Amino acid sequence: MSALARPSNDPLVNHWMPFTANRQFHESPRILARAEGVYYWNTQGDRLLDGSSGLYCIPLGHGRREIREAVASQMEILDYAPPFQYGTPAAFRLAAEVAAMTPPGLNRIFFSGSGSEAVESAMKVALQYHRVRGEGARQRFIGRERGYHGVNFGGQSVGGMVANRKAFGIGLPGVAHMRHTKIPENQYQMGEGTYGAELADDLQRFVDLHGADTIAACIVEPIAGSTGILVPPQGYLQRLRDICTRHGILLIFDEVITGFGRTGQNFAAHTFGVTPDIMTMAKALTNGSMPMAAIAVREDIQQTILDAAPANTVEMFHGYTYSAHPAACAAALATLKIYREEDTFARVRELAPAFLAQIAAFRDLPYVTDTRGFGLLGAIDLEPEGQPGARGFRLMCKAFEAGLVLRVAGDTLVLAPPYVSTEDQIAEMVQTLRKVVTAA
Ligand code: PLP
Repeated sequence: MSALARPSNDPLVNHWMPFTANRQFHESPRILARAEGVYYWNTQGDRLLDGSSGLYCIPLGHGRREIREAVASQMEILDYAPPFQYGTPAAFRLAAEVAAMTPPGLNRIFFSGSGSEAVESAMKVALQYHRVRGEGARQRFIGRERGYHGVNFGGQSVGGMVANRKAFGIGLPGVAHMRHTKIPENQYQMGEGTYGAELADDLQRFVDLHGADTIAACIVEPIAGSTGILVPPQGYLQRLRDICTRHGILLIFDEVITGFGRTGQNFAAHTFGVTPDIMTMAKALTNGSMPMAAIAVREDIQQTILDAAPANTVEMFHGYTYSAHPAACAAALATLKIYREEDTFARVRELAPAFLAQIAAFRDLPYVTDTRGFGLLGAIDLEPEGQPGARGFRLMCKAFEAGLVLRVAGDTLVLAPPYVSTEDQIAEMVQTLRKVVTAA
C-alpha cells in the first residue's frame, strides 16, 4: 500500500474541520448525531438545545417534514440541470418569490451556493455596472472593521476580522475600512445605540481622500453578526445611504444573517427603513437544509448590464455549477411557504422583547462587560482571561457539556434561537447559559 493510501487509526483526522480548533476537537469531540425541532442529540444520546439556530440558518427548527418532502420529490423529478444557458421551473418560481419579499426595486435575483459566493457576486455586479456605464475607475470597495462577508478573497478583503485575513496575505487592493460601530457610549444598550450615527461619515472621508469616482460600493452587514451582534446606531444606516446616493456609490447590505426574519421583518433593510442597491441573503433561505444563497439587485442595475451586451451574448461572465440547484430551490420554496403560512416573522417580534430582557440581565454576572441584541440575536461580552477568546471558547465547551449549542465570537457569547422556540425553550437556553457564565 502506498504511503498516501494508508488509513489513519484516528477516525477524526481526515476531516479538516472549518473554523475549528481541530487538535482540541480530536481530544474532546462535540459530535452532533441527530436533530429535531430545537434540539440536537449527541452520539451518547444526550439532548442539547440549539441556541444558535444551527449557524443562524434553521429558524424553523430541524427536520421540517415539508422541506424534506419537497426536496425528495424534486430529486425524483429533476435532480440537476445546468444553470448556464438552461433554466428550471423551480428557479424562476423561487426568484419571483424572493423578489416579492425584498424591498421594492430589488427584484433581480442571482443565486449561488453560499453566503461567501453571494458576496463575490454582489461585488462583481457592482464593478460591472460601473464599467458598462463608462465609470470603470470605480474599483474600490469600502468595508468596515469587524465586518464579516465570508471567506472568499473579495469578501475576506472587505471584511474586517483580523484573524480571517492575516494568514492569507493582502487580499484585494483598493479596499478601505470604516470604523466599526461598537462604542463605549452604547454599552449595555439593547436595540439601536443612541450614539454613533456620525461614524458613517467615515465613508465621506474616503470619498474626500480617494474621490468618489474611484469607489464602486460600500458593503456592510446591517447588524454585524460574526463579531458579536453589533447593532447599528440610530440613523447610521440612513447616513451611509445618503452618502452613497450623493456620490453614486452602490450600497450593499450583507443580509446573510439578518435576512428572512431575524430582526422581525423580511430583511433588516425593512426593519431599519433603509434600502440598499444590492443585498445578499443565504442562511435562512432553505432553513439550513440545502446550501443556497442569493443576491437581490436593483432592477435598473441589472438592466444596465444586460443592455450593454450585444444581443445573444452572455451579459455577465459569472456563475456557479450549483447556482439555483433544483433541490435547493425546492427546499427554499417549501421554506418560504412555511414563513408565509405560519407568519413566522411575527413570532420573532413576539419573542424578542422577553428574550432581549433576559440577555440584558446578564449584566449582573461577574466578568460580563456588555450586552447587546436586536430581534432574536443576543450577545454577551466577557472579560478575556489570558489570551483573547480563551474564556469564550472555554465557556462554549462548558455550555456544550451543560446541553446548549451556541456561537462564540472571541469572548462574546451569542444566542440566536430558532423562531419556532417556545418562551420556555428560550428561557431554558438563557438559564443554561447563565449557569455556565456564573460558574466562569
Ligand atoms: N456574510 C455574512 C454576513 C455572514 O454572516 C456569512 C456567514 O456567516 C457569510 C457572508 C458567508 O456565508 P457562507 O458561510 O455561507 O459562505
